Amino acid sequence: MRRGAGLLAALLLALPPATGEAAPKRKPCDLVVVAGSALPMDGAFTVRGATAVAVKAGEILAVGDPAAIDAAYLPKERVVRPGGVLLPGFVNTHTHAAMNLLRGLSNDQPLMEWLTKFIFPAEAKNVSPAFVKAGTDLACLEMIRGGTTTFADMYYYESDVAASVDRAGLRAVLGETWLDFPAPGHANLEESKAVTRAFLEKWKGHPRVTAAIAPHAPYTCSRETLQAARALADEYGAPLLTHVSETRDEQNQILEKYGKSPTAWLDEIGFLGPRLSVAHGVWLSPADLALLAERRVSLSHNPESNMKLGSGVAPVAAARKAGVVVGLGTDGAAGSNNDLDMLDAMDFAGKLAKVSALDPTPLTAPELLRMATIDGARALGLDRLVGSLEAGKRADLIVVELEKAHAQPVFDLPSTVVYASRAGDVSLTVVDGRVLFDGRRVLTLDEAKVLAAAKEWRGKVLRSLEGSGEKK
Ligand SMILES: [Zn+2]
Repeated sequence: MRRGAGLLAALLLALPPATGEAAPKRKPCDLVVVAGSALPMDGAFTVRGATAVAVKAGEILAVGDPAAIDAAYLPKERVVRPGGVLLPGFVNTHTHAAMNLLRGLSNDQPLMEWLTKFIFPAEAKNVSPAFVKAGTDLACLEMIRGGTTTFADMYYYESDVAASVDRAGLRAVLGETWLDFPAPGHANLEESKAVTRAFLEKWKGHPRVTAAIAPHAPYTCSRETLQAARALADEYGAPLLTHVSETRDEQNQILEKYGKSPTAWLDEIGFLGPRLSVAHGVWLSPADLALLAERRVSLSHNPESNMKLGSGVAPVAAARKAGVVVGLGTDGAAGSNNDLDMLDAMDFAGKLAKVSALDPTPLTAPELLRMATIDGARALGLDRLVGSLEAGKRADLIVVELEKAHAQPVFDLPSTVVYASRAGDVSLTVVDGRVLFDGRRVLTLDEAKVLAAAKEWRGKVLRSLEGSGEKK
């Protein structure tokens, strides 16, 4: 990578494209983004100096040197970030967006206790279409500002989640969550199927929203529920999302009940397949990993959630070695993280892998960047559309500023982004060719209103739990 030209390079990048004799030959396009450096996340893991991307109708037309792009294209809008690195947007492969409204409601608890004593009761009393709208708006605001352009969600009232995502301009795979006990919006399996079928129908063919089915986990869903979810997914060609092997307790519970690991049992009932992405996988055995690879099931690694809930260390390096596609996730903000910051997720994933192996070599910065972008897209079946900056893909891209006290000097660009950059360094977020964040404002959401609604919901949630002893 070329660098060091500093101010001169900045000035050159900021110059408007040449006009005059060559102008008639320039092809019109909607947007050109120019940055001081780029990590396009192509197959060769190219590390580029000054780079420009030309976009038309939401599609990347070309990625190249700024002079060449300026000579070839005449954009309606030209965005210049001389001190930043251009990347594909981050893909968060596991979260519960609306739980942003419960951010930090209950902390420092083991998963089962946290879930059954605090989260499920709080949700039962509060979750409604209005809650989901306010929570998802807040999550979208956080994700857009932090450079996440695609996320996978598991929650309730997903059609309302989809409406928020659509307004915010993000891309998402949204899984309506099924449980064997009454869930917000559907009280039993028949209702779950009907609600989800209507959701799948309504959002069929949307360019950025993929409707999905998300039976919660093998310990909260029976064989019948899981098989019904798989059948509906097959009927619609829809993705399936679930939690698997998150804790040792769950592993033992399933072993006692069915005589095998959660993964082996899911395989026995015909649930595993290429459209399935499983979150956590902390307690997966080598045999489980081989089975996931064989069935082409992807894994979402959520290091911060696994650390904060004391769940354990997922065998990520072994999973990748076994051929499992592994993406990164944040999990929800209610107490298992408590934010949706993908730059943090990369940093934690790397350090967790290293300290647990007492070896600094597993999960290098380039591998972590892959997990947060192209492998995440692959895990969600979206890699033909997004995950890298290449001609023909949809224009989901971000710029991370490097002119920061905590980021300079830059000797090794991937490691700077992974280990030093922060969500607040993102200065541009574009999804499907549309600028959602310009470095100052999120253009698709009224930030003050979204934050005010979150604070209002804090009061409602607290009042709903009064006297129940559930708030901790
Ligand atoms: Zn989760």
